[in-house]
Amino acid sequence: MALYKMAEILKDAQQKHYGVGYFNAVNMEMTRACIGAAEACSSPIIIGTAEALLPYGAFEWLLPLMLRQAEAARVPVAVHLDHTYHFDTLMRGLRAGFGSVMYDGSRLPDHRENVRVSSEIVRIAHAMGVDVECELGSVGGLSDEQGRADAVIYTDPEDAKRFVDETGADFLAVSIGTQHGVYKAPPKLDIPRLRAIRGTVDVPLVLHGGSGLSDDDFRETVAGGISKINVFTDIVLAAQNAIAQHPQAGYTDLNLYAETAMREATEKKLRLFGSAGMA
Ligand SMILES: [Zn+2]
Repeated sequence: MALYKMAEILKDAQQKHYGVGYFNAVNMEMTRACIGAAEACSSPIIIGTAEALLPYGAFEWLLPLMLRQAEAARVPVAVHLDHTYHFDTLMRGLRAGFGSVMYDGSRLPDHRENVRVSSEIVRIAHAMGVDVECELGSVGGLSDEQGRADAVIYTDPEDAKRFVDETGADFLAVSIGTQHGVYKAPPKLDIPRLRAIRGTVDVPLVLHGGSGLSDDDFRETVAGGISKINVFTDIVLAAQNAIAQHPQAGYTDLNLYAETAMREATEKKLRLFGSAGMA
């Protein structure tokens, strides 16, 4: 029985200065790859899905699958709902039973609107015993329904403190130079900015857009105060490569090749973030 709340996992990470990986899982193989990797290196892990991943699996079907595997795991596993943009989707996530949720108001036209909606969602979620991750600044790299790419807006340390105080957010996603998806040029991370945010804000800090960063980038961001690192693209690319290497394999075997590759890629990240051996 190793289902944990994300807050419990991140509190330990914050105290002991290591990073915990968050990985999206949209089916049984991805879930099994994540938990298998965490068990192999005795690491806590956070798994979940997101609003943009709804076409691959409804919350109501995926969540029981993830919860069942989390409960049976030999390591702490939290099940979290990543990026939601719409009130209705977030409410659907709460109803489905996620232990924590992310509301991303960074696309809203102005900052006050992000504060207002985030506060409202925190109030509702807290009443249901669910913790909330919010985003200030914009990590960028994702596209909205009209295909417009999000801009990158760096998080200001003083704004971050005010935002957490005003909204009551339990975790804060910050923008310090990473981007979602595949990088076109190597990212330049603003570590002094991260340290300044860490100095003003008490809640665990989250890094999105973790795919494509160098090993040193990860070490620096964890040392600079990041407690949770979201990785998706790198894991999916590992699966794609494994599938490409077996053009003659049948579909069911392809699933297993992909799962093995995802498990290995996930384990590498967990070791890099410093969470191996911390379960
Ligand atoms: Zn993200």
